[in-house]
Amino acid sequence: MMRSHDWSGSPLGPPAQWPQSLRSVVSLLLWSKFPMFVAWGPQLGFVYNDPYAEILGAKHPSSLGRPFEEIWSEIWSEVGPLAHRALQGEASYVENMPLLMSRKGYDEQTWFTFSYSPVTGDDGRIAGMYCVCTETTHGVLLEAAREAQTQRLASLAEQRQLALDAAQLGWWQYDTETGAVTHDERYGQIYGLDASSPRHVDEIRRLVYEEDAPRLRAAAEAAIRSSEPEPYAIEYRILRPDGATRWLEARGIPSFEGRGASRVLTSYAGTVADITERRIAEEVLREDEARFRLMANASPAALWLTDPNGHCTFLSSQWYELTGQTEAQALGLGWTTATHPDDQEHARNAFLEANEKRQQFQTEYRLRTADGSYRWAVDLGRPWYSETGEYAGMVGVVFDVDARRRAEEAVEEASRRKDQFLATLAHELRNPLTPISNALQVWPHVDGKAEEASRLRGMMERQVRQMARLIDDLLDVSRITRGRIDLRRERLDLSLAVHEAVEALKPFIDSNAHRLVVDLPVESVYVEADLGRLVQVFGNLLHNAAKYTAPGGEIHIVARQERDAAIVTIRDSGLGIPTDMLTEVFEMFAQVDQSLGRAHGGLGIGLTLVKSLVELHGGSIEVRSEGLGLGSEFQVRLPAISDATSHAAMAQPLEGALPLPSHRVLVVDDLTSSADTLAMMLELLGQHLHIAYDGAAALEAYDAFGPEIAFIDIAMPGMDGYEVARRLRTCASRRPLLVALTGFGQEEDRNRALEAGFDHHLVKPTTIQALREILAAVPLRIMG
Ligand code: ADP
Repeated sequence: MMRSHDWSGSPLGPPAQWPQSLRSVVSLLLWSKFPMFVAWGPQLGFVYNDPYAEILGAKHPSSLGRPFEEIWSEIWSEVGPLAHRALQGEASYVENMPLLMSRKGYDEQTWFTFSYSPVTGDDGRIAGMYCVCTETTHGVLLEAAREAQTQRLASLAEQRQLALDAAQLGWWQYDTETGAVTHDERYGQIYGLDASSPRHVDEIRRLVYEEDAPRLRAAAEAAIRSSEPEPYAIEYRILRPDGATRWLEARGIPSFEGRGASRVLTSYAGTVADITERRIAEEVLREDEARFRLMANASPAALWLTDPNGHCTFLSSQWYELTGQTEAQALGLGWTTATHPDDQEHARNAFLEANEKRQQFQTEYRLRTADGSYRWAVDLGRPWYSETGEYAGMVGVVFDVDARRRAEEAVEEASRRKDQFLATLAHELRNPLTPISNALQVWPHVDGKAEEASRLRGMMERQVRQMARLIDDLLDVSRITRGRIDLRRERLDLSLAVHEAVEALKPFIDSNAHRLVVDLPVESVYVEADLGRLVQVFGNLLHNAAKYTAPGGEIHIVARQERDAAIVTIRDSGLGIPTDMLTEVFEMFAQVDQSLGRAHGGLGIGLTLVKSLVELHGGSIEVRSEGLGLGSEFQVRLPAISDATSHAAMAQPLEGALPLPSHRVLVVDDLTSSADTLAMMLELLGQHLHIAYDGAAALEAYDAFGPEIAFIDIAMPGMDGYEVARRLRTCASRRPLLVALTGFGQEEDRNRALEAGFDHHLVKPTTIQALREILAAVPLRIMG
């Protein structure tokens, strides 16, 4: 179908005025399905086919039927010459000419390729030309898009490489089918390989440390097991071809073809980094840390560390051993729960405040140990800073100071008791003085009234006894604390000691209207002991029993033997002792109820003495009481002597009980009252007496009287006791037994007397018992 520019839209053939030969050629051309027009004649009037009309009609209807150069004047300058060249017999074309098409109310950019060819008539002359127009808009746009895409990809690849470079990462891809590993240059550098790529995976695998290879394989295999491609990361060592060991970190991700069950692994791709420096730094850190922990755990104290927020991040093993806490319990602020409930707040606050102010602190608290008991601890902490000067937290140490703390408490307690004791002592010593002083004042006025005088004397004697007892106890305590008490041990019948103690205490027990039951063994029980000290022990216990039992109570004293132990039990129905005081009563100055002890005239040292004396004898003492008001029982155990049935063994201990032989006894004392009373006591013991009131008289009396024993006061004006003793020893033809009498009872005084030639040392006021012991020793002495 053809159209001519002067026909408007009706399908007609080439104009009739065209030569026939041309018309047939043109008709043929225009049958083409390519959009085309044919121009003819000097005006270049043209005909065009339907495809051409379609383009123009659809896209540029206003152009139909108008000359080309008019419609597209902007490209005419380019295509016009081609048309003319075609008319001169030369075919040519121009590609992708941009044309702005106007249709449907908007402009559209299109591109066309025009190709011009001459049309030759029958006569062989060029009769016109035709032009095939091909719209290339789609191709041009496609090409432009492709170009843009290529550019974008190029810049992406560039950026990716930049990123890899910045991270110092090498890039790789491993084709699982061929085993080929493709990689970039850095990858090659990291592995110490030359840059040529790809290479076979086995070549790479050979470089991996044998110990690390299984881990590497396992990581890659794990990544393909999950349903989605899963990235993995793994650190491993390689031995580079140049002999260097390097730590690498590979990150990879697998790719698959297909889905589900038919999924096939095709490749892995990823990055690799050389992390040797980091690993070395980590290793150093780890070693440092391990060394620190070793040191911390070897320290006898518990060490700790916190972070800057005050959360404990480390405690050495001592803490866990001491408290029994686990790490989970102790870290953070959990450590505070191991302190005593009363100390928790204070421990926590001391620490938190120091942490906040970044300053040192020191505090003490009680720690609950693994067995539930509490121990005193000192906690010391100070801030620490990182190398760059940032606050890193607190570091500290916890010491067990329980022993020190308890010792301090014991010292405080002892000092408190001592103060109490001194107060009690002052009171106890003044007590007897008052009645004595009173009695002395009335004494001048009782002349002749025998009954009154004896009552006063009796009262004074009781007071003096009380004072003497106190002072004796004090001296004994002093000796014991200095470890300077000597036992004069002998083989003796336990019953004898019990009997003497009972004798001594009977008046006191009776005065309290107690019923006393004495239960002695039928067979004698022998012990190796100091009779005086044993009497003191049992006497003391009996005294307490009577003292701490309301009048009319019951006291039992039982002696018996159990295997190799000689046992004496003193039981009363009195006040009893609270359970928490049972061990304490044996401590120095301890009294359950101080006012009560004082009311009964005690210093709280009796039981201390008793215990020490029993222990000096190799024995032990125990106390039992069901509680307050339920009575008390003291049990003394001493080692019994098993072969004591021999005659010789029995003879000695009974000595004390035998009637004393009568001796000539000289008493020397410048204090007449003292001399006279002592003489009276000795007379009571059946002795013949002579009294001298000074040294000279003593020497005279010696010649005239010829004493077998002399009791000599030390502190005398003129010739003192030492001098008298010295002279008596040198001038005497028959040496008497010399007994020193002093007010000083210390060990040194005793030693001094013995050094001066005395045989015995007696502290004033003395007792009948002490005198009896000395007298009993005289015949042996004289015989020797
Ligand atoms: P004190 O001089 O106070 O009697 P002791 O050392 O002899 O000192 O006794 C210490 C304390 O033990 C007494 O103060 C008393 O509280 C208690 N005690 C001792 N013996 C008895 C007993 N038989 N019954 C009850 N309490 C006793």
